[in-house]
Amino acid sequence: MDLAARIRKIPDFPKPGILFYDISTLLIDPKAWRETIDRMAEAARAFAPRCLAAIESRGFLLAAPLALELGIGFVMVRKLGKLPGTVVSHSYDLEYGSDTLQLADGLVAPGSRVLVVDDLIATGGTARATVELLEKVGAEVVGGLFLIELLGLGGRTQLGVPSTALLQFPA
Ligand code: AMP
Repeated sequence: MDLAARIRKIPDFPKPGILFYDISTLLIDPKAWRETIDRMAEAARAFAPRCLAAIESRGFLLAAPLALELGIGFVMVRKLGKLPGTVVSHSYDLEYGSDTLQLADGLVAPGSRVLVVDDLIATGGTARATVELLEKVGAEVVGGLFLIELLGLGGRTQLGVPSTALLQFPA
């Protein structure tokens, strides 16, 4: 099945010059979504993870069914201020300014094999910051798994751990 054809491309969103890869058209198609999760699960098994770490917010959509399929749990990596209770934070630089990701403290056991999951890797900044956040809590980050990779931005190279993407598109 041609999953790439089910991804809608929206020019100039969220700002001029950005081509936005929208997975809404994949989510609405149950056969294509099933196939997506099956293929992602197969790719995930190669990393033998004990837990998934999902990046807010579209990473959650993938990680929830994937975790069930793999018979493992997943944790939410969220933007600043969204998680209740004690959290571990990690700030990272953006082109202008910085951003902070957070994870609930005590959920990921030290030494646990964690696979980072998101819908898309572009520059790799978000996924790299997630790897660093997980390393702060002592996780063994075994890799990154993405539905889409935008080529030419060096995202997977900058991640610092092995990674796989199901679909490739130009940036
Ligand atoms: P980056 O940190 O540059 O790798 O950006 C990855 C994050 O931004 C992911 O959570 C994506 O969902 C989102 N993102 C970046 N670029 C795009 C794009 N062209 N289309 C859709 N989502 C994007």
